[in-house]
Amino acid sequence: MATAVAAVAVVATTLSVSGGPSADLVPTGAPGTALVEDPQVLVISLDGFNPTALRRLGRSGAPNLWRLFDEGAGTLDARTQVERTITLPNHTSMVTGRRIDRKKGGHGVTWNDDRLTPRTVQKAAGHAVSSLFSRVHASHGSTALYAAKTKFSLWDRSWPTAIDKVVIHAEDDAQVVADARIDLVDDDRALTFVHLGSADKAGHASGWLSPAYLTAVERLDALVGSVLTDADTAPELADLTVIVTADHGGVPGAKAHDAVRRPANFTIPFVVWGSGIDHADLYAINPGYRKPGRKQQPPLTGKQPIRNGNVANLALDLLGYPRVPGSIFGKVTPLEVE
Ligand SMILES: [Zn+2]
Repeated sequence: MATAVAAVAVVATTLSVSGGPSADLVPTGAPGTALVEDPQVLVISLDGFNPTALRRLGRSGAPNLWRLFDEGAGTLDARTQVERTITLPNHTSMVTGRRIDRKKGGHGVTWNDDRLTPRTVQKAAGHAVSSLFSRVHASHGSTALYAAKTKFSLWDRSWPTAIDKVVIHAEDDAQVVADARIDLVDDDRALTFVHLGSADKAGHASGWLSPAYLTAVERLDALVGSVLTDADTAPELADLTVIVTADHGGVPGAKAHDAVRRPANFTIPFVVWGSGIDHADLYAINPGYRKPGRKQQPPLTGKQPIRNGNVANLALDLLGYPRVPGSIFGKVTPLEVE
């Protein structure tokens, strides 16, 4: 687990380490060496990912996504937010650790388009709202956002100094991943958030779990595989942990996903993979959480299912940084992954 020594700030290609002895400086890329105490977290959100796609495709059709579950700690039975099963509200819960409903302490982002009013998450909430990016930045870690939908510019407006690099390639997952891979290796980000939209796009066009949707998932699998290959081979990524989840699923055959009571809309994957993380069912190693069956379980009382809103504080736990102020998911009952 990370310590204060992990406060690593990178400017261009110059490494500067604060709080640790200079002996901790290990040249990047030197054969057989890894940066000491240099945890990195990569969050990959697969927009509109119904986990049934993995069962349909099997290990031969989606070998890389299955690898995450076979080697990491995961579940195919995590949950979205209770108020909405659409993209921007759920993603904003991932990075704030808050629910959606602003009257109940949520972030207040209820819309799912490029509108500029409210201009920020803070304006939507009516008060200050911190984020995963803000917390990493406050601990001198570097952050990046790579997204395939332009509406994510909301985050750049909301936390303008906390996200060091924002790259949006609208509806181009391949380019998003290509750029993110270069950045991951070259810039030593503590936190990289990648949003990929092609499963959602195929679902809206052809129906969830349709042949076109499954083809999109196969392509996503290959993109995730390219990142895993980097993690396997690049010494810079020796301490990388990958979290993969989704904002929502989708009902087979349907071309929308906004009905909050449909299990196929609110059931999503959640998996954590990387060095030091053993294969496990996340519910089996987290007695403080309850596998929800077919339920969504509103309101947010009692033992909770694992939700996409757990991303923020889990990522911070992995990096050794303090949790997000005002968050609820994983704040009192941290999600354990090892
Ligand atoms: Zn959608």
